[in-house]
Amino acid sequence: MITETKMAAKSGWNLDNSYEQLPQSFFTRLNPKSVSSPKLIIFNHPLSKFLGLNFEKLKNNDVADIFAGNEIPEGAVPIAQAYAGHQFGHFTMLGDGRALLLGEQITPKGQRFDIQLKGSGRTPYSRGGDGRAALGPMLREYIISEAMHGLNIPTTRSLAVVTTGEIVFREKEEIGAILTRVAASHLRVGTFQYVSNWCSVEELRVLADYALKRHFPGIHNDQDGYLSMLKEIIRRQASLIAKWQLVGFIHGVMNTDNMTISGETIDYGPCAFMDIYNPETVFSSIDVYGRYSYGNQPNIAAWNLSRLAEALLPLISDNEKIAVKLAKDVISKFDDLYHNNWITGMRKKLGIFNIEIEDEALIGRLLSIMEKYGADYTNTFRALTLNKFDDMIIFDTEEFVKWHEMWQARLDRQKEPREFSYELMKSSNPAIIPRNYRVEDALEAVINGDYSVMEKLNDVLSSPFEYSVDQDEYAKLPKKRNCAYRTFCGT
Ligand code: AMP
Ligand code: MG
Repeated sequence: MITETKMAAKSGWNLDNSYEQLPQSFFTRLNPKSVSSPKLIIFNHPLSKFLGLNFEKLKNNDVADIFAGNEIPEGAVPIAQAYAGHQFGHFTMLGDGRALLLGEQITPKGQRFDIQLKGSGRTPYSRGGDGRAALGPMLREYIISEAMHGLNIPTTRSLAVVTTGEIVFREKEEIGAILTRVAASHLRVGTFQYVSNWCSVEELRVLADYALKRHFPGIHNDQDGYLSMLKEIIRRQASLIAKWQLVGFIHGVMNTDNMTISGETIDYGPCAFMDIYNPETVFSSIDVYGRYSYGNQPNIAAWNLSRLAEALLPLISDNEKIAVKLAKDVISKFDDLYHNNWITGMRKKLGIFNIEIEDEALIGRLLSIMEKYGADYTNTFRALTLNKFDDMIIFDTEEFVKWHEMWQARLDRQKEPREFSYELMKSSNPAIIPRNYRVEDALEAVINGDYSVMEKLNDVLSSPFEYSVDQDEYAKLPKKRNCAYRTFCGT
């Protein structure tokens, strides 16, 4: 008979617990609450392999036990991490209220990834919450985070979803579930805000040194180092947010606790992809003032990064005035960094290789025509890429025809042949995105016991730049457009 330890070794767990070595005020140690009858709903085999894990020798039930928190992997020291955050502008204490970090898996290539159970029960940071999660939102996070990965956008990943066999109460009774999230780390802007507000400067330095070592190994941990780290985080976030904008991703709840230090997208709550191009698009039911609308995401990112800079001030200089000046200078670079990333990406979306000053106007013109005629964002660029203009009202308008001539003339002015432009466009404009109605259909099918719809969806979303015939079906818009599509937080 095989012993548990051998089983763990065979499964490839190689967990370290570096965060647990940090000051105790940064986390609380506790085990997941066991659940009655876990069942594996979906498991990410390629990701598991990448992490060096292998559960082939285990029965599905045993795998479900691990990802439900009933069996703790060898080497895991589960902790709930403390953090704070500005939620819709209001500062508050938060923390993992329904998640536990099992440990950090060291991959065969020596990379380190947090393995976190989301929905694993109450913690000291749960406030009024039940510590649990429902199946729909956990699968939604799985589908969309993996789709983001397919789109080459930095993101936390999803390893597994299990149902718990228990009911959770939301607006109605829901099936309880746990998602296993994999992240470069779970260090958030809000983690720094928490330590800066409620711990000592020495502890803040410990956290910053930890972040430097884990994410920015090239930067030294001296006074300039902390400012350099801030610069690098700003650079990564400017790049990330531009990538969101370029594919029409709306995060929905860009609170400072939902913004990572690593530059990965995190926390897929009320997120969704924009269909009709409109900068004011909001999907989240709780975002009544449009704070986190599509067009406002870059501003909010800069605002969040300013909160990070404030938290880091004591490390940047002993002299507060100097620290503020240095931090402000660095923050002021965000807009240009973001804009450069965005316009570079937009040029690629239009097959443009070189730079002309007028490109900005050309892009702006297209976007305003799209907005005027309510054009689907993804499918407009898809049509330009395929050079096939049917189905959409915008393409029959005089404005578009004129714009198209200007664009063609622009392409003529560069030395690269047209084929190169169309290749560039193909690799920059996804043929498909996780359309809201498709995601909803997949979730509904799972709840009715049919996993095939979701599996097929995940499969096509894993290579969105393929332009395969298989994908045509997934590029289609819903028969009836649901302009009032709403996503929900408090998942
Ligand atoms: P989120 O909206 O998922 O970013 O979560 C914001 C905060 O609420 C975090 O501190 C979460 O841990 C906490 N939270 C969200 N849902 C629950 C829940 N069901 N039980 C306990 N805490 C929760
Ligand atoms: Mg969150």
